[in-house]
Amino acid sequence: MSGVAGSGCRTAKGGQQQQDKHMVHWFRKGLRLHDNPSLREGLRGAKTFRCVFVLDPWFAGSSNVGINKWRFLLQCLEDLDRSLRKLNSRLFVIRGQPADALPKLFKEWGTTSLTFEEDPEPFGRVRDHNITTLCQELGITVVQRVSHTLYHLQHISDKNGGKAPLTYHQFLAVIACVDAPPKPELPVTASSLSGAHTPLSEDHDERYGVPTLEELGFDTDGLNPPVWQGGESEALARLERHLERKAWVASFGRPKMTPQSLLPSQTGLSPYLRFGCLSTRLFYYQLTDLYKKIKKAYPPLSLHGQLLWREFFYCAATKNPNFDKMLGNPICVQIPWDKNAEALAKWANGQTGFPWIDAIMAQLRQEGWIHHLARHAVACFLTRGDLWLSWEEGMKVFEELLLDADWSVNAGMWMWLSCSSFFQQFFHCYCPIKFGRKADPNGDYIRKYLPILKNVPIQYIHEPWTAPENVQRAAKCVIGRDYPMPMVNHSSASRVNIQRMKQVYQQLANYRNVNCSSGQGHFKEGYQDQLAMANLYDIEDAKYLKSTQQADHFEDNFNMI
Ligand SMILES: Cc1cc2nc3c(=O)[nH]c(=O)nc-3n(C[C@H](O)[C@H](O)[C@H](O)COP(=O)(O)OP(=O)(O)OC[C@H]3O[C@@H](n4cnc5c(N)ncnc54)[C@H](O)[C@@H]3O)c2cc1C
Repeated sequence: MSGVAGSGCRTAKGGQQQQDKHMVHWFRKGLRLHDNPSLREGLRGAKTFRCVFVLDPWFAGSSNVGINKWRFLLQCLEDLDRSLRKLNSRLFVIRGQPADALPKLFKEWGTTSLTFEEDPEPFGRVRDHNITTLCQELGITVVQRVSHTLYHLQHISDKNGGKAPLTYHQFLAVIACVDAPPKPELPVTASSLSGAHTPLSEDHDERYGVPTLEELGFDTDGLNPPVWQGGESEALARLERHLERKAWVASFGRPKMTPQSLLPSQTGLSPYLRFGCLSTRLFYYQLTDLYKKIKKAYPPLSLHGQLLWREFFYCAATKNPNFDKMLGNPICVQIPWDKNAEALAKWANGQTGFPWIDAIMAQLRQEGWIHHLARHAVACFLTRGDLWLSWEEGMKVFEELLLDADWSVNAGMWMWLSCSSFFQQFFHCYCPIKFGRKADPNGDYIRKYLPILKNVPIQYIHEPWTAPENVQRAAKCVIGRDYPMPMVNHSSASRVNIQRMKQVYQQLANYRNVNCSSGQGHFKEGYQDQLAMANLYDIEDAKYLKSTQQADHFEDNFNMI
């Protein structure tokens, strides 16, 4: 569960005197005081403590894209600062790069101990390894604890022969053999400080205050008020509100496509889990308690199942630094996607001419969150459904715009949706018209996010180009002038794309046959990896998928096409 390096509590030469403990807790994700085992551990026996967040302003403000995510992050930091003030402490927001900024401050502050939450993702692991090495050189003890995921992901891989399980079914089988996730730890309160205090200087706000968006270079003129409020306080209040909806939690199954469900009618906790304002373990165990009280439910049909999907993707990504790429990613089928910057820009900016797709992209851009099945719709449209563009491009747009953009989950779901990994049922695609009509029959959602279409009559709202000219004029929306013509013919594009995908998988199957019968293949080496991936799809997963939201869109499509 933990890693410890260095020797902060050193003994003086005579062997008697112990050095005072001056602790720094480094917040990255895990922006909370509840269930924060590394912070609690650090506070034990500390004389002083400082909670820091290192912010590299270089990443912010280069464009206004992603402003929602930055605003959300700053709100999380302000909330943390408020909570720390209640403990007579403050948050120290440090401008710069961790490897440069932290050692200088450690010297200035006489730091003897550094704590942080273990980061399961490859980039974070490298960063943390480097800092740990640096601390060792400085004689600073490092303590890290797992609390971003339910399980220690390494234990899951160890139980699975050293490899992450790559089917959900396999994943569930492995976790059935390991201990239940640890219970969440008590929040840090005045009593957990046991005398530790934070030395604060007069100029704290100037040196270490939470910056504003403007300070980070964003243009906030005309910025709408946030739909999502960041921070631990909001996360806990939101969790409580959702758990109060006992009937809803009890009946949680597949998300239904209704116009209401397109707004955050799921728990809407993903941004809070992403930044760690909410502990997954707290969510998990509060659900467990609730299910015990109201009904018996087991994953994947319960909300627990959703959290386990998160865990599954984290686990699959943890040792794969190329998880967010096609090349060099051993579990990703190498599909020859087209390159078309213009088409990509139309999709990303909600200019495809399909109101359902464009409204979803507008909600994403304006608010930073879209419903799970809306994500399915736009991801399918960009990749195997209509445009045949790489999932990597879509993932990058989501990464910039989604408040909950999570390196592991985002890449995992994009590979899934594009049939590049985890799932290969490519023979049905979402129809951007019929799916939209089913989800939003009156077009209210479209009108909300695409006001240019607000006067288009219901019968044309999902395909306004079919409206007679006089209807378009009366609605003050002439297609081709005020709103784009559809950028593709969905029926023919999706038919061609299904064939293309069929060929890719056919080649993989041929390779498998050649390889099995002759013991040698005629394909390039890279195919070996793809083949391994093609074998991943587990028939048992199909059963699980049938009963979870992951399969929902396929079922929808069976009914719609
Ligand atoms: C193309 C695509 C990209 C996605 N990218 C992300 C992402 O970057 N970050 C992210 O958290 N989710 C992502 N998802 C999964 C899912 O859409 C969101 O987790 C969900 O919509 C969040 O809403 P909620 O909190 O109300 O979820 P709920 O249904 O209330 O579920 C509770 C929690 O379980 C987890 N969860 C739910 N569904 C999934 C899932 N399919 N896979 C993994 N975890 C899940 C989330 O942490 C969520 O907050 C993506 C889905 C698609 C199709």
